[in-house]
Amino acid sequence: MNIKNYKAFTIKNFLQIPQLQNISKEELRDIEVAGNILPFRVDNYVVDELIDWDNYRDDPMFRLTFPAREMILPEHYNLMDKALKENDISKTAATRNQIYKELNPHPAGQLKLNVPQQQGKKMPGVQHKYRETVLFFPSAGQTCHSYCTFCFRWPQFVGIDDLKFATNESELIADYLCKNHEVTDLLFTGGDPMIMNFQVFERYIEPILAAYKRSGLQTIRIGTKALAYWPYKFTTDAQSDDFLRLFEKIVKSGINLAFMAHFSHPRELETRAVEDAVRRLRSTGAQIRTQSPVLRHINDKPELWSAMWRKQVNMNCIPYYMFIARDTGANHYFQLPVVDVWNIFRKAYQHVSGVCRTVRGPSMSCTPGKVQILGVADVNDKKVFVLRFIQGRDPDWVARPFFAGYDPEATWFDDLKPAFGEKFFFENEL
Ligand SMILES: *Cc1c(COP(=O)(O)O)cnc(C)c1O
Ligand code: SF4
Repeated sequence: MNIKNYKAFTIKNFLQIPQLQNISKEELRDIEVAGNILPFRVDNYVVDELIDWDNYRDDPMFRLTFPAREMILPEHYNLMDKALKENDISKTAATRNQIYKELNPHPAGQLKLNVPQQQGKKMPGVQHKYRETVLFFPSAGQTCHSYCTFCFRWPQFVGIDDLKFATNESELIADYLCKNHEVTDLLFTGGDPMIMNFQVFERYIEPILAAYKRSGLQTIRIGTKALAYWPYKFTTDAQSDDFLRLFEKIVKSGINLAFMAHFSHPRELETRAVEDAVRRLRSTGAQIRTQSPVLRHINDKPELWSAMWRKQVNMNCIPYYMFIARDTGANHYFQLPVVDVWNIFRKAYQHVSGVCRTVRGPSMSCTPGKVQILGVADVNDKKVFVLRFIQGRDPDWVARPFFAGYDPEATWFDDLKPAFGEKFFFENEL
């Protein structure tokens, strides 16, 4: 097998990307300005094997990883352009911080809400929002092999420390699981936990395996984009066999190990490397469940979604979630009205068989919970959105249909108003 050595390009060295040698100075400048605002990192797998350089301007993989002028509001572009021309590092940094504050870095109260306490102390790096599932942000897993230009985790990558939340205390997590038996799922997330080297990852896993029998834990999930951005993690990297053995050990101990794999476009499923990686991961007994937001310019066609789900099932993966992109970062470029997203979902879902219909969505992760758009309906001659919670801050809210007034321009839950009455049924409790 071919061995590929990981190489990443960032704002500091992107001009060395061989494929960029033929593009104009203006385009390079746009990448530089936008890449000083949005997170920017792309690896040699994405550059060499995923991007179609013959057609890069409209290429979804290029758009997904290279910051572009259109992703930045004109006033922000001008501010950064000016700051860069002055060639003063502290001025650039101050401008960047000023712009970030206007980009809604922590939508849905991520930073302050849902952080559990243990012996009176907050557990930073842990979020416990839904009864059964705890999210864990291991501090060594807060970057990714490449960065998505739409990413809502971007404050974690851009180096403003007080916006980060992370911990390296997996002992605390293990202890928390033993004391809170309602928690069945521990979800490692980031960034991408699969950025970690083996020794570090193992240090996070071992205390949990040791405590597992004294807890209610059933499933360890690993949220990752590594299958799409660096599949060699599981095939030819020096430590790939160590990882696979550890995954096998987790499965053999009786835990369900599930990779929550982020795939945004069918292209990401087409290479030899990703096929090998999926096969090897599945051979450990781990499951792979797939998810992505719907993104304008990237995957806003139903045919792409039905193709993606079919291919995933064919590769032995399970379609899981379709998300509506969050209201953060470059959302004006990527966002679509919720009704458009629902139509993409509906048309894609109508064209696949039942084995693909394990997917749920489209859903918005917002303060009260994960809200699914079930569809548009007429109730007593009034056009409404029918919604329900897939997950709720209060489990009793889950799976109850409710109604919002139809609004063809609404792009996020905050834009929706109750169709009947003054308040949504959960608002008093919230
Ligand atoms: C989506 C999500 C989970 C996982 O929910 P499942 O329905 O179990 O997949 C957990 N915590 C948060 C904050 C989430 O957004
Ligand atoms: S892989 Fe996930 S966390 Fe990383 S940049 Fe992309 S969306 Fe964000």
